[in-house]
Amino acid sequence: MYCALRSSAGRAATATLGCQASFRRLLQTPASADWQLQTAVAFDIDGVLVKGKQTLEAGRRALSILSGNNKHGKRIPFVLLTNGGGVSEAAKAADISSRLGVEIHASQIVLAHSPMQSLVHRYGSQHVLVVGGIKNRCAEIARSYGFTNVSTPNDLVAWKPSLWPFMRAPASDHLSQPVGRDFSEHPFAAVLVFHDSFDFGRDLQVVTDVLRSQDAAAGRPFVRRQTAPLFMSNEDLVFSNEYPLPRFGQGAYHVCLRAMWQALHAGTDAPQLEYSLFGKPHPVQYRYAEGLLDRIAGSVGGMTDFERLRRCRRIYAVGDNPAADIKGANAAGWTSVLVRTGVFAGPPGSNDAVNPAAAVVDHVEDAVNWIVETEARRLAEMEPSQQ
Ligand SMILES: [Mg+2]
Repeated sequence: MYCALRSSAGRAATATLGCQASFRRLLQTPASADWQLQTAVAFDIDGVLVKGKQTLEAGRRALSILSGNNKHGKRIPFVLLTNGGGVSEAAKAADISSRLGVEIHASQIVLAHSPMQSLVHRYGSQHVLVVGGIKNRCAEIARSYGFTNVSTPNDLVAWKPSLWPFMRAPASDHLSQPVGRDFSEHPFAAVLVFHDSFDFGRDLQVVTDVLRSQDAAAGRPFVRRQTAPLFMSNEDLVFSNEYPLPRFGQGAYHVCLRAMWQALHAGTDAPQLEYSLFGKPHPVQYRYAEGLLDRIAGSVGGMTDFERLRRCRRIYAVGDNPAADIKGANAAGWTSVLVRTGVFAGPPGSNDAVNPAAAVVDHVEDAVNWIVETEARRLAEMEPSQQ
């Protein structure tokens, strides 16, 4: 079942010894809550629990095991940490709950764009361009986060259809601004790519237009520099769905955007395109997920000493994409588990050469069984009297 296991016994033993004293104080909670404070799991979704529209049976069983259906009778808290997006956290929770038969709350969901909420304090009242997703859904999500002045590429095409003449006029329910806004008089303060582009060509045109226009106002003359900051939510080059081979992800759009910027400025002294990235494998995603897990721990045992909790809690990350799930988890100090149901397709017995996981298993049910048994041993060593 387990194809590869990287030994980190020395590191783990040191950490365990360091946590023993802390947990004796920390565990002023019922014994039933012990695993819920000391262990947590973050699942990727696509390629792990589902494949596109197909729900993986192993995913159903895995979440059932974490809800206490294991031989130890222990519940383990979890979050879903995905580079997907384009829907609200509540909508994603409802969708995955119904597909996997386990109740999941919005507070357990980290989408690629969830931590973009941290940008609200800077841009919440300023005009931002939100890119990606279908209709105007990402604009609505941005508004729910607290961005109050949001426009989309569809709004710009509706303003000047000649801006991108290769599409029909957007339907009114695809717009996020009333028709009539003169965008040349409304500069953008930032560009936020929330989700995969549903029209690569249009979004390459619109975003490069804004970023190289005077004052970042569409329709104004081009200048040889970037005129607004760019934030993008997910650099996955490919992702896994029900199609038998990996598909282009948002990272493919980034490649095109960089190449287009370079081509447009070839032979000039214009600086490279600058941008900030969200999504796995970037640390911002893992800090955000740890914040959600802290709140879950708080609800379990009234836990408030999150600094101590974080030092002693072990978080497992289960994913199918070494370059995103495993790289990010390893960098965050989490224990990574790679499954074979998605992007990773190495032969049996292999691990990813660039971003090796702590364990490689066939599917998510194997991952959860491995986690439960690993934790049973670790926690028995740490606090024999508490288990
Ligand atoms: Mg995946």
